[in-house]
Amino acid sequence: MEIPPYYEKQIDCIHCKKKFKTIKVRSKFIKVSNNESDFHPLYENDVNPLLYNAFVCEHCGFSFTEDFTKYFGPGISEEIDQKISLHWKKHSFDKERTIDDALQVYKLALVCGHIKKEKHITLAGLALRTAWLYRTLDNKELENRFMFIARNQYIDAFSNGDHNGTSMSEVRVIYLIAELSRRLGEREEAIRYFSRVIEKQRSSNETKIIEMAKEQWQTMRLEKEMTEHTKVL
Ligand SMILES: [Zn+2]
Repeated sequence: MEIPPYYEKQIDCIHCKKKFKTIKVRSKFIKVSNNESDFHPLYENDVNPLLYNAFVCEHCGFSFTEDFTKYFGPGISEEIDQKISLHWKKHSFDKERTIDDALQVYKLALVCGHIKKEKHITLAGLALRTAWLYRTLDNKELENRFMFIARNQYIDAFSNGDHNGTSMSEVRVIYLIAELSRRLGEREEAIRYFSRVIEKQRSSNETKIIEMAKEQWQTMRLEKEMTEHTKVL
């Protein structure tokens, strides 16, 4: 019998504590062919695990990822009830998802994460994944809107040391601030943060990211010199 790429998983809602089902991708079906300069993984086949990162509780509408903490601050559960659960019409996301389904789920998770005051690094990751999905749909405007949110959340994450204890290293966070700024056309900000990545070359073992930063930094310097040169002409 052939093994399908997806399987059902039971999740415990961290808000209402009820159980619900979600779909996950079997890791042996995840085949990354390449990564874009902001780490967007491109997959060899139609199986896209990015669509299944976030869960929606069918009972209360609370949406989250494995990066969310189980801790709810004082008054937060009540606020989620007021803002999300009271308006929630029970429906489930336990089937194969389209990009549009996944976008709905990510945006709901962003709202929930924001209310719950999740770490900036978690919110940044949600916004970045949302931007990637809009990129897949060729929707430049919304891709930029979510890259902007992600970039600003990474700046807050960096200044709060949010990445400590996560799989994101400091170099990776700074690199993403630079690269997202570059993609948003904010050149000065991009050059400033690429330089900060390069400054880490002696203390970091993430040589690949440092090389990527050097390359982007050089291209941007060259572009800047060329524009200045054209201005003189
Ligand atoms: Zn729930």
